[in-house]
Amino acid sequence: MSFCAGIQAGPPIEVFALTQAFTTDTFDKKVNLGVGAYRTEESKPWVLPVVRKIEQLMAADQSLNKEYLPVLGLAAFSQAATKMLLGDDSPALADGRAVGIQTLSGTGALRVAGEFLARTCGRTTIYSSEPTWENHRLVMLNAGFQEYKSYRYWDPATRSLDLKGMLEDLRAAPERSVIILHACAHNPTGVDPTPDQWKQIAEVIREKNLFPLFDSAYQGFASGDLDKDAFAVRSFVKDGFELVCCQSFAKNFGLYNERVGNLTVVTSSKEVLANALSQITLLIRGMYSNPPQHGARVVATALNDPTLYQEWRVCIKTMADRIISMRAGLKERLIKLGTPGNWDHITNQIGMFSYTGLNVEQVEYLRNEYHIYMLKSGRINMCGLTNANLDYVAGAINDAVNK
Ligand code: PMP
Repeated sequence: MSFCAGIQAGPPIEVFALTQAFTTDTFDKKVNLGVGAYRTEESKPWVLPVVRKIEQLMAADQSLNKEYLPVLGLAAFSQAATKMLLGDDSPALADGRAVGIQTLSGTGALRVAGEFLARTCGRTTIYSSEPTWENHRLVMLNAGFQEYKSYRYWDPATRSLDLKGMLEDLRAAPERSVIILHACAHNPTGVDPTPDQWKQIAEVIREKNLFPLFDSAYQGFASGDLDKDAFAVRSFVKDGFELVCCQSFAKNFGLYNERVGNLTVVTSSKEVLANALSQITLLIRGMYSNPPQHGARVVATALNDPTLYQEWRVCIKTMADRIISMRAGLKERLIKLGTPGNWDHITNQIGMFSYTGLNVEQVEYLRNEYHIYMLKSGRINMCGLTNANLDYVAGAINDAVNK
């Protein structure tokens, strides 16, 4: 009898199952709108030219070695990453109240933040938006939270933010609950609060003594503008909040499989930060001991060298602009076809993902009849669109909606 006999099969992870089904589909016009990564106009993954260049420099640099990094990672990386998030002139940085910790991409940052808040700081309940990135729940329950709950976020009727519902749910949350907030380009809806709405959210968080945990997976990638995409986090810091922010460099550097992330911790005083860091050091030591160097060094090099930094900014602008142009292209075609419904949300939403508003039957119809793959929720990745397949996809959506 096997040592693991009697174990039930776990449920499939939808996004990976979808990619698998797409790969085995032999239809020539198939389209994958389900992937969680950037694709070029040729439907190919993109290694950023600046990343290739830095990797070549690194390969030639005989002074680099493969020694262990410290538990908290490469300081040149985490300092630059925290500065990129908070801004050069951040008062928290100037006061020594903010610090960065290198993590295993955004997921790793969430896990470390979760463990610290639940196990070290004794927080028991965490909230994320409904809907949210599907992994929040698993990461946070595994990190030690006793309860994972949701606050309302998406209003299907208006295909925009349900601010009233969100604020009501936050007001009803038990004190000291941790609230996950998407810093920009909300996944999966692509709907972000406006600056004024952020202000209202911040007021409730302060009033009810909740704790903000920002998830920043798309800084720069969302709008092409690093400052704009950091607006929410910076305004909370400016308002004097303590917070943590989990940064991913998967999308904005195209470094998905290198697992480059940073956990920024902002406290109210320099004194408490040292103890927090020593506890986080023990958490990481007990989880994976220390992070890998390669990707972090690539990012550190780009962020710390003025010329390479400019080259990288051109790259993120290229990605953001392509996504924005696909949004416009899809909306324009749906309107031209007279597809029933209002499609303004396609261009109002931001980032790689769009919540189309298509229902499960329509999603299935598109897959069965047109070999167009997307998540059951109707979320599509704009990068799956190209000038070559826009007409095909728009026509298919028009057919599905009119059916
Ligand atoms: N948070 C959100 C909202 C995301 O969309 C993602 C990537 N899909 C992540 C975190 C983490 O990604 P990674 O671990 O690859 O950095």
